[in-house]
Amino acid sequence: ARSVHQIQSGQVIIDLCSVAKELVENSLDAGATTIEIRFKNNGLDLIEVQDNGSGISPENYENVALKHYTSKLSSYDDLTRLHTFGFRGEALSSLCALSDFHVVTAKANQVPRANRLDFEPSGKLSKTQIVAGQKGTTASVEGIFKRLPVRRRELEKNIKREYGKVLNLLHAYACISAGVRFSVRNTVGKTKNVVVFSTNGNRTTKENIANVYGAKTLSALIPLELRLEFESSAVTRRAGDGGQINQMEVRGHISRPVFGEGRQTPDRQMFFVNSRPCGLPQIAKAFNEVYKSFNVSQSPFIFADFQMDTNAYDVNVSPDKRTILLHDAGALIESLKTSL
Ligand code: ADP
Ligand code: MG
Repeated sequence: ARSVHQIQSGQVIIDLCSVAKELVENSLDAGATTIEIRFKNNGLDLIEVQDNGSGISPENYENVALKHYTSKLSSYDDLTRLHTFGFRGEALSSLCALSDFHVVTAKANQVPRANRLDFEPSGKLSKTQIVAGQKGTTASVEGIFKRLPVRRRELEKNIKREYGKVLNLLHAYACISAGVRFSVRNTVGKTKNVVVFSTNGNRTTKENIANVYGAKTLSALIPLELRLEFESSAVTRRAGDGGQINQMEVRGHISRPVFGEGRQTPDRQMFFVNSRPCGLPQIAKAFNEVYKSFNVSQSPFIFADFQMDTNAYDVNVSPDKRTILLHDAGALIESLKTSL
């Protein structure tokens, strides 16, 4: 029978993108400078994320996959982040419920020994084993949704599209993460371990974009640098702030408008809030409308990172927490359109 834990986990991890997002964010949180992602059969058989981050401390082995366990809450600031990007301690516990999940991890002082940790679906540690390994953590998700048959069948049916979506998300992480080397591989049938894309640990997002999308795309881009000011609503004003004006910085790269007919570059629109990839449908629409109003027919390349106060948005609107609701979207969009 399906447990409450399985059903709740299915609300935290809703698709391949959720798996990739949670594992990659854990790697970034662990200070990784190299992140290797491996798929088997487009993710149906395996999604594995290997990093060279801090590794998991032995005293945390028992807890890491228990529900609501997190090692990341230590200050009030962290609590604010709890409401924004995660730190909810739900990812590993959900992955245990939904797949065959295991981890291989080593702190620097343990190398060349590492520890393989296996978990029960409940998140309870079931077995530890010493294996050879390097500093960092490898998290392996086999047979995602195997215990939710309807969800599993749905994923199998749409796997091409779902795999495309997860690649787009990984493009976004790879482009925004300056100083982090990403590589993505996939094994389908007899084509073993094909490198799908990779970045070189560049210092700038611009170089990352060149790695992912090619020099030709890069040459069509211009820098995006805006400082927006707009009136803030009551929701975003903190007690004692007094002020009514919100400020926000937007940084990134957009395609130089090419008038008349142009190449289509669908799916090359990446939005970030405080450097974390997210969906911003209202903002995407505003960008596209501005391009259209200049009679630009191609859909623009957009890489836009919005740096803003954590009070200015809410991530709890979509089940997967990827779509973000801006409290002052109307005023922000007006200001954005004017600036563009
Ligand atoms: P959260 O990220 O919200 O803390 P998770 O369920 O994603 O919760 O992870 C639980 C804990 O497992 C983390 O707090 C961290 O201590 C540990 N952990 C998970 N992935 C990694 C990793 N790649 N490197 C180091 N520690 C990790
Ligand atoms: Mg996490």
